[in-house]
Amino acid sequence: MSDNSSSEPSNFIRNIINDDLKNNKNDGRVHTRFPPEPNGYLHIGHAKSICLNFGVAQDYQGGICNLRFDDTNPEKEDVEYTDSIQSDVEWLGFDWKDRLYFSSDYFEKLFEFAKQLIRDEKAYVDHLTADEIREHRGSLTEPGKPSPYRDRSVEENLDLFDRMRAGEFAEGECLLRAKIDMASPNMNMRDPAVYRIKKASHHRTGDDWCIYPMYDYTHCISDALEGITHSLCTLEFEDHRPLYDWFLDQLPVKCHPQQIEFARLNLNYTVTSKRKLNELVTEDLVSGWDDPRMPTIVGMRRRGYTPEAIRDFCSRIGVTKTDTVIDVGVLENCVREDLDKRTRRVLAVLDPLKVVIENYPEGEGESELLDAPYHPNDPSMGQRQLPFSKVIFIEKSDFMEDPPKKFFRLGPGREVRLRYAYFITCTDVIKNDDGEVIELRCTYDSETKGGNAPDGRKVKGTIHWVSAEHALKTEVRLYDRLFNDAKPDSNKHEQDWKSFINPESMTVLQNAYLEPSLVDAESESLYQFERTGYFCVDSKDRLDGKPVFNRTVTLRDSWAKQKNK
Ligand code: ATP
Ligand code: MG
Repeated sequence: MSDNSSSEPSNFIRNIINDDLKNNKNDGRVHTRFPPEPNGYLHIGHAKSICLNFGVAQDYQGGICNLRFDDTNPEKEDVEYTDSIQSDVEWLGFDWKDRLYFSSDYFEKLFEFAKQLIRDEKAYVDHLTADEIREHRGSLTEPGKPSPYRDRSVEENLDLFDRMRAGEFAEGECLLRAKIDMASPNMNMRDPAVYRIKKASHHRTGDDWCIYPMYDYTHCISDALEGITHSLCTLEFEDHRPLYDWFLDQLPVKCHPQQIEFARLNLNYTVTSKRKLNELVTEDLVSGWDDPRMPTIVGMRRRGYTPEAIRDFCSRIGVTKTDTVIDVGVLENCVREDLDKRTRRVLAVLDPLKVVIENYPEGEGESELLDAPYHPNDPSMGQRQLPFSKVIFIEKSDFMEDPPKKFFRLGPGREVRLRYAYFITCTDVIKNDDGEVIELRCTYDSETKGGNAPDGRKVKGTIHWVSAEHALKTEVRLYDRLFNDAKPDSNKHEQDWKSFINPESMTVLQNAYLEPSLVDAESESLYQFERTGYFCVDSKDRLDGKPVFNRTVTLRDSWAKQKNK
């Protein structure tokens, strides 16, 4: 097997694999796995792990990657999650082919291996209570004390373990522990639990079991049974590696994968703990796992993030051994860059101000169609025709009654270009009783069709517009970061992390006017609304049969500006 000299930057994991291949370790195989627990939806942190595991496999000839559900905790797991995880991995662009596995498929083997440990006097049934076990465990400075049940005979242990499986004991009454070293400086080695009693139905094995194997025990054996060569996991498992190796050293498995730890992805302005994301959902602080503000794969997808942008992000942040916090602006920039290449530019007025063009012909049928390319310098995107008429909408923010010098948009007596249309000059401002501007009167220069004056006169500003009678009126949702604090879930904020939810993370505009071509926009299709941002057709909601749009990301990073102020 050889390095495919991929486009991926090298990293310490690839270096380890390259060395292993040179030494013909694992007969030259590269076999990884992505092992989610089906107790929630995948998030951007998982995307890093997916890109790494599947990416590494792709980079080596013959390399393969399994998708394995680590489903040993029946109470929190559900088929809703196994389904969503598969769909998310696929959407991200990865293929596990026929290698879909479940740890629960190994329950019988895991049980037999545990009996082997007992027979080898490497495991025992302990009847201490949870509190007593904690007391016996000792601390970082003090060694632990052995349980009084530690030296039960093999026969007694086998009998008790069988009776655990048969349901003769209550939850918490006893457990199976590995017999390692109560004085080990590594707390994970102080006789860790191997099996505990849980009288819970499992989403795959039903009521077949009332004892369930622990993560540390299950994970290494599952890896070994599948012939994994490199077991990539996040840094918090570094202290568990001796245990990973210990179990495999005791048991008659043919393969001993190498566990390699890497730094997990932390993003500012974002929480990526499944427990916390779950809380946001169950407490209705967001509309669901797929709320476009959620850092979940389904949320990002609904917001308009593309698999390409997410993969690009994962590749740019790289893989290291040091915990860092990545600026969420880096992710947003990857999204901008990708959308810049792929989206058609369209006109949409989000906060409308009515403009009457007084010298434009009156009445029905007096509209014309103007040619407008979908991309200024990519003709392959084609073009559409924009209807123009006497009454149009422009963006409120494109008019100022008393504009400063550098404001190049519309003001009394000023002339601007309407994108793809004409020059117009503001001749009158109409206000309501509160003094609020509600309408502008303008004149247009019929000689400037297409946006250029034959006499060579220039205007500094170009603004977007839509024809009032032709526009698609629909709902547009402006999404922003869900948290307004850079570290919503730092230790300091552990109690009140939800108080940092950004009240402006979602603004619903009921009064947006979009160019008419968008009436047929398909679910999930992406656009640039000129001058306002990137938008995506919501995949769930429609308004009176019309598409509803989500803002994916603004054109520029307004948070960076704020920070610099
Ligand atoms: P959480 O801490 O939110 O409960 P988890 O780590 O328990 O997440 P798993 O389903 O066990 O979630 O994760 C599957 C894989 O994804 C694991 O290998 C885990 O290390 C990896 N992973 C989870 N979160 C991140 C992250 N933020 N960055 C990189 N990898 C991650
Ligand atoms: Mg986990």
